[in-house]
Order: sequence, then C-alpha cells, then structure tokens
Amino acid sequence: MAYDVQHIRSQFPALDQKVHGKQLVYLDNSATTLKPRVVIDSLVEYYSTVNSNIHRGIHYLSQRSTERYEQARERVRAFINAPHAHEVIFTKGVTEALNLVAYSYGETFLQAGDEIIVSAMEHHSNLVPWQMLARRKGLTLRFIPFDTDGVLDMAAYKAMLAPGRTRMVSVTWVSNSLGTVNPVKEIISLAHDAGARVMIDGAQSIQHMQTDVRDLGCDFYAFSGHKVYGPTGIGVLWGKEELLDQMVPYQGGGDMIETVTLEETTFNKLPFKFEAGTSNYVDAWALAVALDFVSGIGINAIAAHEQHLMEHATRLLNGIDNLVIYGNAPRKSGAISFLFKGVHPADVGMILDKQGIAIRTGTHCTEPVMRFYGIPGTARVSFGMYNTTEEIDILAAMLKRVGQMFV
Ligand code: PMP
Repeated sequence: MAYDVQHIRSQFPALDQKVHGKQLVYLDNSATTLKPRVVIDSLVEYYSTVNSNIHRGIHYLSQRSTERYEQARERVRAFINAPHAHEVIFTKGVTEALNLVAYSYGETFLQAGDEIIVSAMEHHSNLVPWQMLARRKGLTLRFIPFDTDGVLDMAAYKAMLAPGRTRMVSVTWVSNSLGTVNPVKEIISLAHDAGARVMIDGAQSIQHMQTDVRDLGCDFYAFSGHKVYGPTGIGVLWGKEELLDQMVPYQGGGDMIETVTLEETTFNKLPFKFEAGTSNYVDAWALAVALDFVSGIGINAIAAHEQHLMEHATRLLNGIDNLVIYGNAPRKSGAISFLFKGVHPADVGMILDKQGIAIRTGTHCTEPVMRFYGIPGTARVSFGMYNTTEEIDILAAMLKRVGQMFV
C-alpha cells in the first residue's frame, strides 16, 4: 500500500494549528514527536474508566489496570523483539534507563581500574551518568572519536578495546545532533570479542528504524516513549535477564521488595526489582497504543518516507549560499544540523518561528560535539512520519531568505 502521508497527518491534531498566524510546520521531532489521536484518546479513556493503582489491589479495577500494564510490557517486548517480557523495565525515559544501568551495573560488576567506552558524540544522558560512575568507583572513561563528517573512528575504537579491562561500551545508535547512524552491530560484536557488555541508546532510532535487540546482540537497550509518538514520562530499559538478575536495585521503595523487616529487605523478581513505587502505568498503556500505531503504518514504510525527506532536505539545504551542514555521514537518519556562516543559530530559529516553522537551535545536549567543531550550537531540523516534501520546500525557501538577510 502506498504511504498516505495526508491520512497520517489527519490523525495528529496538533498539526492542524497556526503559529503566529501561519500554518505550523513541525520539524522538531528529535526533541519530541507529536501524538496521534489514538494515543491522546487512550489517556482520557484510561483515566475515565479502569484507572486504579496496579499490583496491589484485589478489586476489579486494580486487576484490569494490572493486566493492561503487563500487556503494555508484552507489547514493548514484541516491538523490540526481546526474548522475555520480564526483561522490559519501565522507566521515565532513556535518561533514567541510562542512569539505572550506570548505577546498578556499575555497583554490581565494576571496580577501580575497569574501563568504560562511550562515543564522543553521545547525548549528555549517555555521558554524565558514566562520568559520575567513573568518579565514584575510580574507573577510566574512553571516548570513540569521530571525524568532521560525523563518522565514528572504528580503528580508534578497536585500538581502545582492552580485553579484561574494558567492561562496558555505551553508544547511541543514531546521533541526535549529527544524524549519524552508527554501526552498532559491529560495535557490539567487537565489544563482545573483548569481553565487554554493550548498552545502546535508542532514543533516536526507535522511531526511525526496525529494532530487534536479539539481532543486534546488545546487552541493554533503552528508548523514550515521547520520541516514538507516545506520551512523555515513560520509557523503557531492556536488559538481558542474566545481567538484570544479578544487578543491585537502582531505587528502593514499594513494589520492588519481596519481604521487609526493619533491618533488612529481600528484593522482588524481575522486572519489579527495578520498578520502585507506583509505576507510570497509564503512560505505559498509551505507549503500547503508540507502538501499535507505528506498527500499523509499518516502521519500514516510515523509514523509507523519512529517508526520502532527508535526501530532499539535504539536497535543498546544500544549495543555499553560506549554509553549512554539520554531519555528513553516508548513513544518516532523522535530523540535519546546519549553520549559516557568521550567524548565531538562535537568530535562525527565531526567524523561522515567526513563519510557523518549529526547529531546534542550541547544543542539543551534545556540548562536546559543538566543542569539536568550535561552534556555539547548530540549527537542527528533524523529521517524523507526518512531514512532507512540501514542508521542506517551505523551510528551504525561508532559509534562502534568511541567508540573503545576513550577507
Ligand atoms: N539520547 C539521545 C540520543 C537523545 O536524543 C535524547 C533526547 N534528546 C536522550 C538520550 C534523552 O532522552 P530523554 O530526555 O527522553 O530521557
């Protein structure tokens, strides 16, 4: 079936609005995606009907609510092709999942002298938790460099892998500021050859490409609901059972316990051991609805559509005087970063905003990437399933005018 972008657009109420009197052109999808009506409706329906705290009640509503929560977990499992639903931990988002692994894996398995490798293009949420762990435990953090095109230096990576010393490699599948699609399968297999575990940050891949954690072979994988057309405040950590089982809990509280005395606690089994307190069960359900929505359209069909948008936008932007694209990897997905020579990106963002065009400007939580290029930040356009080539034409026409304003 042909990709019907107009039909898809009609299911996103937020697209149908004017900003500063102009039709909204939403090109800030790497920051967060808009929500289809089924997801919005599922929240209203949940709070209007079976809302009740999970796992604790014997009454009807609590049991229905618990069933939905566990169905949502199974839905996530299927979406990423994980072996077991109990390996799926609901978190607030990628950030919490990364902090969880850095803390719990670090406390359980790592000791002074061990090494962790991340790439130099990581989002702060896949860098700062490892820095905090490294400081706390006396570990060494190493960084896979990238070249000016935004491509990871795999030879440098191979050289820094130290069997027996490197214990964890944590990298993003897709860079949120450069758009680079990293060769994660190769990164994972090389890490495993060296005896290291691998965490994949799926924040910018889950919505753009098929995710199969078994095929990838990673040990941990995380994504946020709000970047895949689901609600904010819910995300997922998937990890291999044999590791999660051994890892110390991240937070203490209700639900994560088996028995508690005043002096001591024994912990619950997976996944509950890592879900202290009242879980965000309503948003977990709405996330499952979002994943069904994505699957209904087909992630590969979405990927093909977005690839077309990406090529169209790259061609048009490359034709604009004084505009420089940052990140020219052969495989890119989702986002294009750029600057006009001598113009602050915030100025570009503000001018586009007045025309109803929403883009993001700044460091995109990747300050080391900006430092590498010696720039204050970039302007970034990023695509979702509902964007059209016409919207990119509007963007490009406006950028052409911006370029002329500053000559
Ligand atoms: N990693 C990457 C690559 C991201 O793009 C983001 C969000 N911009 C995050 C991690 C953090 O996601 P969240 O804020 O949803 O936890």
